[in-house]
Amino acid sequence: MSDDEPTNGIDDVPTVTCSRCGREWDLAYELEELRAGNRAVEQFALDHERHTGHYPDDVTPWLVACKRCPDGEQFLSERPARRWATAHARHTRHDVLLQDPDENQTVVSPE
Ligand SMILES: [Zn+2]
Ligand SMILES: [Zn+2]
Repeated sequence: MSDDEPTNGIDDVPTVTCSRCGREWDLAYELEELRAGNRAVEQFALDHERHTGHYPDDVTPWLVACKRCPDGEQFLSERPARRWATAHARHTRHDVLLQDPDENQTVVSPE
Protein backbone atom coordinates (compact mmCIF):
# COMPACT_ATOMS: atom_id res chain seq x y z
CA MET A 1 0.00 0.00 0.00
CA SER A 2 1.73 3.21 -1.07
CA ASP A 3 0.28 6.70 -1.00
CA ASP A 4 1.87 7.77 -4.25
CA GLU A 5 -0.01 5.51 -6.62
CA PRO A 6 0.73 7.07 -10.03
CA THR A 7 -2.68 6.19 -11.44
CA ASN A 8 -4.65 7.65 -8.58
CA GLY A 9 -5.75 4.36 -7.12
CA ILE A 10 -6.54 2.72 -10.44
CA ASP A 11 -4.10 -0.17 -10.33
CA ASP A 12 -5.52 -2.08 -13.25
CA VAL A 13 -5.12 0.25 -16.23
CA PRO A 14 -7.01 -1.18 -19.22
CA THR A 15 -5.20 -1.69 -22.48
CA VAL A 16 -6.41 -1.53 -26.06
CA THR A 17 -4.80 -3.18 -29.04
CA CYS A 18 -5.13 -2.39 -32.73
CA SER A 19 -3.96 -5.01 -35.18
CA ARG A 20 -4.16 -2.54 -38.06
CA CYS A 21 -1.68 -0.26 -36.31
CA GLY A 22 0.20 -3.22 -34.80
CA ARG A 23 0.25 -1.41 -31.48
CA GLU A 24 -1.03 -1.63 -27.94
CA TRP A 25 -1.87 1.27 -25.66
CA ASP A 26 -2.63 1.54 -21.99
CA LEU A 27 -5.36 3.97 -21.13
CA ALA A 28 -3.65 5.85 -18.32
CA TYR A 29 -3.92 9.06 -20.37
CA GLU A 30 -7.69 8.69 -20.86
CA LEU A 31 -8.16 7.87 -17.20
CA GLU A 32 -5.98 10.64 -15.82
CA GLU A 33 -6.13 13.52 -18.29
CA LEU A 34 -9.62 13.09 -19.64
CA ARG A 35 -11.07 11.60 -16.45
CA ALA A 36 -12.96 9.25 -18.71
CA GLY A 37 -13.39 6.64 -15.98
CA ASN A 38 -15.14 3.52 -17.17
CA ARG A 39 -15.72 5.16 -20.55
CA ALA A 40 -11.97 5.28 -21.18
CA VAL A 41 -12.13 2.49 -23.75
CA GLU A 42 -14.98 4.21 -25.56
CA GLN A 43 -13.18 7.54 -25.50
CA PHE A 44 -10.02 5.93 -26.84
CA ALA A 45 -11.92 4.14 -29.61
CA LEU A 46 -13.64 7.35 -30.71
CA ASP A 47 -10.35 9.23 -30.77
CA HIS A 48 -8.68 6.39 -32.64
CA GLU A 49 -11.39 6.38 -35.30
CA ARG A 50 -11.28 10.15 -35.60
CA HIS A 51 -7.55 10.21 -36.19
CA THR A 52 -6.94 6.98 -38.08
CA GLY A 53 -10.29 6.21 -39.72
CA HIS A 54 -10.70 2.81 -38.06
CA TYR A 55 -11.62 1.38 -34.66
CA PRO A 56 -9.23 -0.62 -32.49
CA ASP A 57 -9.65 -4.37 -31.94
CA ASP A 58 -12.81 -5.64 -30.25
CA VAL A 59 -14.70 -2.42 -30.86
CA THR A 60 -17.68 -2.68 -33.18
CA PRO A 61 -19.86 0.37 -33.47
CA TRP A 62 -23.61 0.72 -33.73
CA LEU A 63 -24.50 2.04 -37.16
CA VAL A 64 -27.39 4.28 -38.05
CA ALA A 65 -28.15 5.01 -41.68
CA CYS A 66 -31.09 6.85 -43.12
CA LYS A 67 -32.92 4.95 -45.82
CA ARG A 68 -34.02 8.13 -47.57
CA CYS A 69 -31.01 10.45 -47.44
CA PRO A 70 -27.23 9.99 -47.17
CA ASP A 71 -27.19 10.88 -43.50
CA GLY A 72 -25.76 8.40 -41.02
CA GLU A 73 -23.52 8.01 -38.01
CA GLN A 74 -21.60 5.50 -35.89
CA PHE A 75 -21.85 5.16 -32.13
CA LEU A 76 -20.25 2.91 -29.56
CA SER A 77 -23.34 2.33 -27.48
CA GLU A 78 -27.02 1.81 -28.05
CA ARG A 79 -28.39 4.89 -26.35
CA PRO A 80 -26.89 7.60 -28.58
CA ALA A 81 -27.42 5.45 -31.67
CA ARG A 82 -31.10 5.01 -30.86
CA ARG A 83 -31.37 8.67 -29.98
CA TRP A 84 -29.87 9.70 -33.32
CA ALA A 85 -32.22 7.38 -35.22
CA THR A 86 -35.28 8.55 -33.31
CA ALA A 87 -34.40 12.23 -33.69
CA HIS A 88 -33.70 11.89 -37.40
CA ALA A 89 -36.97 10.04 -37.98
CA ARG A 90 -38.86 12.54 -35.89
CA HIS A 91 -37.51 15.62 -37.64
CA THR A 92 -37.32 14.40 -41.21
CA ARG A 93 -40.02 11.69 -41.21
CA HIS A 94 -37.47 9.32 -42.77
CA ASP A 95 -37.06 5.64 -41.89
CA VAL A 96 -33.68 5.01 -40.26
CA LEU A 97 -31.83 1.70 -40.24
CA LEU A 98 -30.26 0.83 -36.90
CA GLN A 99 -27.63 -1.93 -36.83
CA ASP A 100 -26.22 -3.32 -33.59
CA PRO A 101 -22.66 -4.69 -33.22
CA ASP A 102 -23.96 -8.21 -33.99
CA GLU A 103 -25.34 -6.87 -37.28
CA ASN A 104 -28.99 -7.23 -36.27
CA GLN A 105 -30.91 -4.52 -38.07
CA THR A 106 -34.05 -2.73 -37.04
CA VAL A 107 -35.85 0.16 -38.65
CA VAL A 108 -36.79 3.22 -36.66
CA SER A 109 -39.82 4.86 -38.23
CA PRO A 110 -41.32 8.28 -37.60
CA GLU A 111 -44.26 8.20 -35.23
ZN1 LIG B 1 -5.36 1.54 -35.37
ZN1 LIG C 1 -32.91 11.09 -43.69
